Amino acid sequence: MKKYIMALDQGTTSSRCILFEKNGNIASLVQREFPQIFPKEGWVEHDPMTIWSTQIAALTEAFLKLGTTWDEVAGIGITNQRETVVLWDRKTGIPVYNAIVWQCRRTADYCKSLEKEGYAKLIKEKTGLLLDPYFSASKVAWILNNVDGVRERAERGEICFGTIDSWLIYNLTGGKVHATDYSNASRTMLFNITSLTWDKELLKLFNIPEEILPEVYPSSHIYGYTDPKIFGASLPIAGVCGDQQAALFGQCRFCEGELKNTYGTGAFLLMNTGEAPKFSELGLITTIAWGLAGKVYYALEGSVFACGAAIQWLRDGLKLIDSAADSEYYAKKVKDSGGVVVVPAFAGLGAPWWDPYARGTIIGITRATTKNHIIRATLESMAYQTADVIYLMETETGINVKELAVDGGASSNNLLLDFQANILGKPVERPECIESTALGAAYLAGLATGYYSSLDEIKKNRKTEKTFEPYETEEWRKSNMLRWRKGAHRSLDWEKF
Ligand code: ADP
Repeated sequence: MKKYIMALDQGTTSSRCILFEKNGNIASLVQREFPQIFPKEGWVEHDPMTIWSTQIAALTEAFLKLGTTWDEVAGIGITNQRETVVLWDRKTGIPVYNAIVWQCRRTADYCKSLEKEGYAKLIKEKTGLLLDPYFSASKVAWILNNVDGVRERAERGEICFGTIDSWLIYNLTGGKVHATDYSNASRTMLFNITSLTWDKELLKLFNIPEEILPEVYPSSHIYGYTDPKIFGASLPIAGVCGDQQAALFGQCRFCEGELKNTYGTGAFLLMNTGEAPKFSELGLITTIAWGLAGKVYYALEGSVFACGAAIQWLRDGLKLIDSAADSEYYAKKVKDSGGVVVVPAFAGLGAPWWDPYARGTIIGITRATTKNHIIRATLESMAYQTADVIYLMETETGINVKELAVDGGASSNNLLLDFQANILGKPVERPECIESTALGAAYLAGLATGYYSSLDEIKKNRKTEKTFEPYETEEWRKSNMLRWRKGAHRSLDWEKF
């Protein structure tokens, strides 16, 4: 009997390693932050070697802290920041350029020109994605087009492309395995999410040679074994999944219509839509949730650009609070926002407004407005934006969402979740373990190695820490939602003169 399962959670600002016990409890956790590289306005890069070294440092330290032996560890699951790309030499493993991070906007003009040429529809049909620099394809094209000699080497088969999961798998297996999973492939904008193959037409459009692509496998699958030269053991790499999809899995949202929201810097809502992709007309993304036991499951995804970021702004910009947690303390001092609406449209608004020219707005101020009202209204904006996305998902799928499972840093805020439940008119449920992302990767790996026998067994691990039940009236909900919508509307079309 193995005691532990390991998750590597390679995020945008840190590399983490968590060893879980079979019941889902955290036995050991180590996090290593690494530098962000901003070569120009709007450009974001990471050093792939630093990603690798911080990840392996976190891995060894988490293991050593536990004081166990490697034969007690059943396997490794990988979850990762999505869309970020690395190209490296197949033989030497040396990257040809820094990783271009999902946040990087350097290919915005290129994507705009493709949109003008009318490619958005084709891309949406094939990949479920919106034509945006966020996704991998235009970033890969940028490296091929701008780094000397790389295209020629790629055409000769000497270069590997991968998202961060592939980069870690390659390094962990000592260069033996070049692979990714369905969920990560579905974020590249090169993968056909219906036929489950790399799409030749898109590869041609972005001028990307097929030779550089990784093999694609289910998210729960034995990808290979770690090279014993690296940390002294040969463990199966048995689970791979993009971070938001892994969080959906870690939350045990295994059934169609089940939903989770991760309240981080931004917020990511994912709804499991079952075994067939649902394509959105209203600006949501269709994505592969995971591949498991011979089947592929899909999700609808909506994001809120500024969620916890609005709280950071209260702290660092306005200096109204000393810490993010203070927001709850001050917001509780007033019974409501006093009619104030804060719209944190710092960089435009996403669903359902889709206006890059929207800007932050505070409206409804009177002489009675205090700092506490502004703080409360900022917290409420996180719930309103979440509700907007959920209503959109319900409209598009015809599914009536029963409850919302939550995680992420800001989900520790009780006032936020209480308000969220009321504004949705649905229960909001916070699990004991809010490390859903790492847990999801561990579960996927555990299923492939036989550490877990079934989804039912995994579900038994999930314990609710607190459920927030709605208690306000329908009328309250409607009038508050209406005020939010009016406020959001006033923020639109600001930056464009
Ligand atoms: P990320 O993974 O995007 O870095 P985290 O899940 O670590 O985000 O959550 C951090 C975000 O949550 C920050 O934006 C912070 O402002 C917000 N946050 C953290 N704690 C609270 C809290 N108690 N109340 C409101 N917001 C919070």
